[in-house]
Amino acid sequence: MEQKQVLIEKKKTNMKLSKKFIEDVVVELVGEEALPIIFFLRGKSKISEFIIAEELDLEIHRTRNLLYRLYEHNLVFFLRKKDKIKGWYICYWDFNEKIIPEAAEKIRLQKIEKIEERLSKEESNNFFMCKNACARMTFDKSVEFNFKCPECGQIMNDQDNTRTIEFLQEKLKELKKNTTHAKKKV
Ligand SMILES: [Zn+2]
Repeated sequence: MEQKQVLIEKKKTNMKLSKKFIEDVVVELVGEEALPIIFFLRGKSKISEFIIAEELDLEIHRTRNLLYRLYEHNLVFFLRKKDKIKGWYICYWDFNEKIIPEAAEKIRLQKIEKIEERLSKEESNNFFMCKNACARMTFDKSVEFNFKCPECGQIMNDQDNTRTIEFLQEKLKELKKNTTHAKKKV
């Protein structure tokens, strides 16, 4: 029994994901508020939600809510067991660390897709912008508004979006070369 525990621990630490790498995925999928739970569970196994709540000084409802949100993204998993003394069910939680690289890759691909969409919109349209910067829209849309800002009534002018396009291209390049593998290092 004890030997098995050692084996599990070893397997987990062998993954050597950097803290930052894990953080990025958890923040992206669930939010910063879930980080303490993840790092509390990391390297441990089957931790009762009551222990998590107590150790992190969180309300049990809040703890469960965060755990379920993490669970929705497969970032944690649980074992439900009946407490022999109290008679009710308690969930024991584990951090699903091995899902992190896969989740990171998914996030990266989604970001690439989004930026490509945005880029093609920027490249294939002329944009018009209000002097006061309250509105920015495509040519077709600004025709509808008679080239007048719907917010303040100012005339909207043709906007040079070269810099936006360059920015998006740069970002895309960065995302494409920044593979999960490269980020995996400690
Ligand atoms: Zn305006």
